[in-house]
Amino acid sequence: FHDRDGSIWFDGKLVPWRDAEVHVLTHALHYASSVFEGQRAYNGKIFKLTEHSMRLRKSAELLGFEIPYTVEELNAASEEVLAASGLTDAYMRPIAWLGSEKMGVSATGAKVHVAIAAWEWGKYFDEEKAKKGIRLTIAPWRRPAPYTAPVHSKASGLYMIASLSRKHAEDTGFDDALMFDWRGQVAEATGANAFFIRDGVLHTPTPDCFLDGITRRTVMDLARKRGVEVQERTIWPDELESFEQMFLTGSAAEVTPVGSVGPWSFEVGDLTRQLAKDYDDLVNGRIPNA
Ligand code: PMP
Repeated sequence: FHDRDGSIWFDGKLVPWRDAEVHVLTHALHYASSVFEGQRAYNGKIFKLTEHSMRLRKSAELLGFEIPYTVEELNAASEEVLAASGLTDAYMRPIAWLGSEKMGVSATGAKVHVAIAAWEWGKYFDEEKAKKGIRLTIAPWRRPAPYTAPVHSKASGLYMIASLSRKHAEDTGFDDALMFDWRGQVAEATGANAFFIRDGVLHTPTPDCFLDGITRRTVMDLARKRGVEVQERTIWPDELESFEQMFLTGSAAEVTPVGSVGPWSFEVGDLTRQLAKDYDDLVNGRIPNA
């Protein structure tokens, strides 16, 4: 991914894509002292940019370091990267990490670095598969308890279990994995939140040990605007068979219908399709901001 043209915003200025490098003795590489964002631009406008910039700062704070840029400066940097990319529709990746100024578990003395890249990234899941609903397996790893890790930070370290679970899914012929939490409750997918539909009501797990996604909150608002009841609550796996529809939400995944989780299958129904369309209309500015 490093060998391409373009520019990356790196510690305050744009540098050529190929020159945006870090040293092998970077604290973040050894000890996962790194947090990131995933945001998309549609028609030249970055959707919910301020929310993403705020979350990046919050994620760092939860890991005990402060990003040396304000939300306004981060917003301006993202805008600058998008403009330089020449893209109107892009996926964007801001990342903040502790550098190579020192070595050892102690983070004291390591500097906070920030970079932002933008590239063209179509659908997160294969579009043809998504039409019928993607196929999930159950992840072999569970989301950790809030007393085990800073679970509300979009911290790279937490993506070890996500990446391992996604690998397990791909190795066994699935598109992604549904993760349970440490109690065994339904949590989320490896890079997106989960929603279920039964009798016209939307159900989603309470985000007490995983990200309360920006897309998740947006879709809950869109559903309520349509008069759909939304229940945020504990969901145990034995309830999975009773749901009629399921979909995932995320800045990258947008609204992606799910066709099955292991042995349980779901239809891609009207409400899933309606919410996917509402989300698409919203991000493309065809309906006012939720
Ligand atoms: N959970 C995980 C593990 C994710 O990586 C993401 C994507 N950032 C989400 C949920 C959804 O968050 P958002 O809607 O803010 O992109």
